Amino acid sequence: MGKRKALKGLGAKFGATVRKRYTRIYKLLKLKRTCPKCGSESLKREASGIWVCKKCGYKVAGGAYRP
Ligand SMILES: [Zn+2]
Repeated sequence: MGKRKALKGLGAKFGATVRKRYTRIYKLLKLKRTCPKCGSESLKREASGIWVCKKCGYKVAGGAYRP
């Protein structure tokens, strides 16, 4: 048997469940969020659970990965 190549990034270290969850969260983070106040798509995740609109400064306390 030949040498197995080391997997890059999220490889064998993490199980399939974690990788799946990571993909889902990554997709959520990449999605554009609409500000409930001004309606612009400038809502960005400032910290875990805090979303801030870059346009009007509106802060939304939400889940860690979605407003
Ligand atoms: Zn706004």
